[in-house]
Amino acid sequence: MKIILLGAPGAGKGTQAAKLKEYYNIPHISTGDAFRSNISQGTEIGLYAKSFMDKGLLVPDEVVIKIVESRLKEADCKDGFLLDGFPRTIPQAEALDALIPVDCVVNIDADHEKIVKRLTGRRSCKCGEVYHISTYSAANCAKCGGELYTRDDDKEETIRKRLSAFVEQTAPLVEYYGKQGKVVNVNGNQSPDSVFAEVVNKLQS
Ligand code: ADP
Ligand code: ZN
Repeated sequence: MKIILLGAPGAGKGTQAAKLKEYYNIPHISTGDAFRSNISQGTEIGLYAKSFMDKGLLVPDEVVIKIVESRLKEADCKDGFLLDGFPRTIPQAEALDALIPVDCVVNIDADHEKIVKRLTGRRSCKCGEVYHISTYSAANCAKCGGELYTRDDDKEETIRKRLSAFVEQTAPLVEYYGKQGKVVNVNGNQSPDSVFAEVVNKLQS
């Protein structure tokens, strides 16, 4: 199964990705995680990406496309993969279509004011797990013990800029993939478990 997870920042892509990769036993490819790992390792790509990320802007297409193309060529992606945070623009989608067309696009739709509340209270772990301060106040990850942190771009002002970037640059992908008949719409204003149930249910039918 080759799946794209589409949705605004904070719609729950990362949370669903963690569940879906186990359910389908496919690699989870998150461009945001790839950039954050480059940032913490202090690479040139990381430094470059951070200058955009901290402003709530998208990283230029050519950089993102190169990273994803080389990752998708690895052996573990042969039978399927889960793309989270890519593609985010029409040129990225066209580059992916030229390389490997996907089977379906899961579009997680969530209310933008709800998203602001979610993201300002979000605590993240390097392993990919995410928590919300209202339901999890521990300092370390329940899964791997890693220290939780607040992402640099999870500040209200930056969140609003990320949402505008989504509306302008990423939302047109729903129509793009709609024309290919690949979009599965899911209501993201529910609990993570309910969203997951809806995704699995719709992917099976
Ligand atoms: P979120 O979906 O919560 O915004 P991500 O971790 O997917 O978080 O992305 C964080 C940031 O990384 C984005 O705001 C953007 O700057 C950059 N980024 C990630 N994926 C892409 C992409 N496909 N194209 C351009 N920029 C990207
Ligand atoms: Zn963890």
